[in-house]
Amino acid sequence: MDLSKHAFFEGKIVPLADAKINIAVHGFLYGTTVFSGMRAYWNEDKKRLFVFRPYEHFHRLLNSARMMAMEIPYDEEGLIWLTLDLLRTDDWKEDIYLRPTIYKADMGIGVRLHNLRDEFSMFVTAFDKYLANDSNAHLTFSSWRRIDDNVIPARGKVSGSYANSALIKTDANRAGFDEAIVLDQNGHISEGSAMNIFMMRDGILVTPPPTDNILEGITRRSVMELARNELGIQVVERSIDRTEAFIAEEIFMTGTAAQIVAATKVDFRPVGKGVMGPITTKLRALFDDVVRAKIPKYEQWNVEVK
Ligand code: PMP
Repeated sequence: MDLSKHAFFEGKIVPLADAKINIAVHGFLYGTTVFSGMRAYWNEDKKRLFVFRPYEHFHRLLNSARMMAMEIPYDEEGLIWLTLDLLRTDDWKEDIYLRPTIYKADMGIGVRLHNLRDEFSMFVTAFDKYLANDSNAHLTFSSWRRIDDNVIPARGKVSGSYANSALIKTDANRAGFDEAIVLDQNGHISEGSAMNIFMMRDGILVTPPPTDNILEGITRRSVMELARNELGIQVVERSIDRTEAFIAEEIFMTGTAAQIVAATKVDFRPVGKGVMGPITTKLRALFDDVVRAKIPKYEQWNVEVK
């Protein structure tokens, strides 16, 4: 991976090689770290880099921190400023991915959240596709269950809970699938290992509600708005049963890293006609234009690096 030369580390921009965390740090020992994953896209016509919805990403990050009893001396705007500073330092001219983290930074043994120092850090990496087969992914149902809100906040992006995502992803990949659909404790479809899920059923776009243990995805929210406003499609948030995946007309998954992934098979059954469907095709094209700041109506989602 093509990592950034610099990182923002505990209060200042430093060479990435100096952004080091001790092995005795709480966030490393206990997974008491929260994070976000943002993208910035290069617009070749404008010769500019645009960060996609950083306010929403930092808002969710600060909410995750709140759930984990963390405090840092920045608000959303402050975090956007230091992001722009960091991106200017390395002068990126390609699509990139940013990984901000807030973590319990004190050293030593003792599992808890209180009376511990919190720190913020961020690094950047060049980033292309997350899933190679993003136009014809084969999904399976994971035998793992999605973490429940009463176990670890599912709507928070807590590092420790990504052990669940890693178990899901590795088992799916080793069994020959591209990604997995994960059910929650009630047996409803929740999401993927690190992406939200949508399906077209009888011409309506359906996605699980925030109360079915999903991460409240920013791509999910953007796609819902684009589907409603630009394609005139009805979008419904409701619980989804497992077998609905076998009779959906289209299925796709969304995430910052994944973008919009078309699923064309679920456990060897073709989704719809077994090829990427028309709604997924339109949304993917529209989304790519929106994230690259090519559509004036949505330019408030793009923060220019200048
Ligand atoms: N669910 C999980 C578990 C994730 O890790 C991600 C990636 N952040 C998503 C959904 C998608 O969220 P977003 O669109 O905000 O990246």
